[in-house]
Amino acid sequence: KVKLDANESPYGFRVLRSVKTNQYPDPEAKALRKLAAQDLKVKPENILHGNGSDELIYNLIVTFGGPVLYPVPTFSMYGIISQALGEKKIELPLDEKFDIDSQEILKSAKKNRAKLIFLSSPNNPTGNCFSPRKVLEIIRKSDRLVVVDEAYQPFSARNDFLPLLNKYKNLIILRTLSKVGLAGLRVGFMIASPEIVFEVNKVRLPFNLNSLSQKVAVELMAKKREMNRNIKSIISERKKLIREMSILPGIRPYPSDANFILFKVDPDRERRSQRGGKAEKIFSALLNRGVLIRNMTGAVADCLRVTVGTPKENAAFVKALKQVL
Ligand code: PMP
Repeated sequence: KVKLDANESPYGFRVLRSVKTNQYPDPEAKALRKLAAQDLKVKPENILHGNGSDELIYNLIVTFGGPVLYPVPTFSMYGIISQALGEKKIELPLDEKFDIDSQEILKSAKKNRAKLIFLSSPNNPTGNCFSPRKVLEIIRKSDRLVVVDEAYQPFSARNDFLPLLNKYKNLIILRTLSKVGLAGLRVGFMIASPEIVFEVNKVRLPFNLNSLSQKVAVELMAKKREMNRNIKSIISERKKLIREMSILPGIRPYPSDANFILFKVDPDRERRSQRGGKAEKIFSALLNRGVLIRNMTGAVADCLRVTVGTPKENAAFVKALKQVL
């Protein structure tokens, strides 16, 4: 009934457009890239389109290979794709504030000759942005390719890294339309120097983005006012949810710059002296009440993640959570 598990936007658009189903899609997605370039204030040559940013992560690793370095916990696909392609993964832990250790990343990238460094900021599943100073230090001091994955940037008050593209040739930025209401279309963008775009474009399958998605994305990207209104609603609902969750006993929500909230169950539990497993129980009990969130205990101990939905969905989640706790 209440689906709050996958960091989708609760606000979608219903459309049915006639496209020429007999013809292949535009392999270069020209109209879409032109529009995205205007939006992001870059040139179309700086943009490569993907079937979601997942596909761009895949294409980046196919193009440049490993070792692939990233902090953990983070978005699982960096590791899954590296492993699927037989590339070495280097996982470095985030600190207790879920921030990166830039010195450690620089040192390890050099020692292991990492080809790609992935930094999801805001980070999934922790929800925070990494310290911009530390991200910049990595971009500046490393001669490795640094991919800043800004999938959740629309929900963050922090500045994005796009303005630095011209200055740092090793910087690659990922964006997606998935979090602003178009996850079903599978449209993602890589923004980088034309040289990097040229290389990654060699491994991209020619018709990776279907005609319907291209057309509908072009049409809906024009609905900026509605999209911005939805984003604002999610940001204010996030604030409200965090406030409501903060006063509940037995859980602690973490701050968030994204469209989801990570929260810890039994935050005061002494690791060794008491039994865990409460987070799983809460997850299942919520599901029994028709509320699906994400069980993150495999990645972050005792943690669950809830996507910010409509006011009604969020109220249903809080009501169920109160009952369950
Ligand atoms: N990057 C991050 C950090 C994500 O959390 C996600 C989606 N969960 C993606 C990329 C992939 O998004 P998509 O493939 O839908 O564009």
